[in-house]
Amino acid sequence: MTYPVGTAAQAIAIGTFPSTPKDIAVDGLTDLLGDDLAKEEAVLDDQLNTIANRNVSVKEDFETRVPNYDGDDHDEDDYAHEITDFERNSAIVRELEQRLREVKKTREKIKNGQYGKCEGCSGDIESGRLKVVTIASLCISCAEKL
Ligand SMILES: [Zn+2]
Repeated sequence: MTYPVGTAAQAIAIGTFPSTPKDIAVDGLTDLLGDDLAKEEAVLDDQLNTIANRNVSVKEDFETRVPNYDGDDHDEDDYAHEITDFERNSAIVRELEQRLREVKKTREKIKNGQYGKCEGCSGDIESGRLKVVTIASLCISCAEKL
């Protein structure tokens, strides 16, 4: 089967997701998934750039920007607000960074023909799992051992 139209997400939605990682590759679905992930990577990058600065010396590392409300005219409220927002943004940045790393890693695996291989036991990751977590790096039994 081929998927000339749509994206991997749509193939999943209409229930045509193949049964093994090998089928996923043969069906060309990994290419579509790669496209989906490339788009997601761009979105994650944008989101990170709105609240954080890229750390030029560490790859995929972002430093949360300290908000500056009201310029030089700070009062207690501004400071409190800035601290709250900085803490909230830091938590968001950590999550986005984590997702960005996983997305990049999955794209790399697709390129190398390693998509769907478990990093724990080198077996195939169950298709049902990939369908739900397209960027899964461990099979169910290896994930359960964590
Ligand atoms: Zn495994």
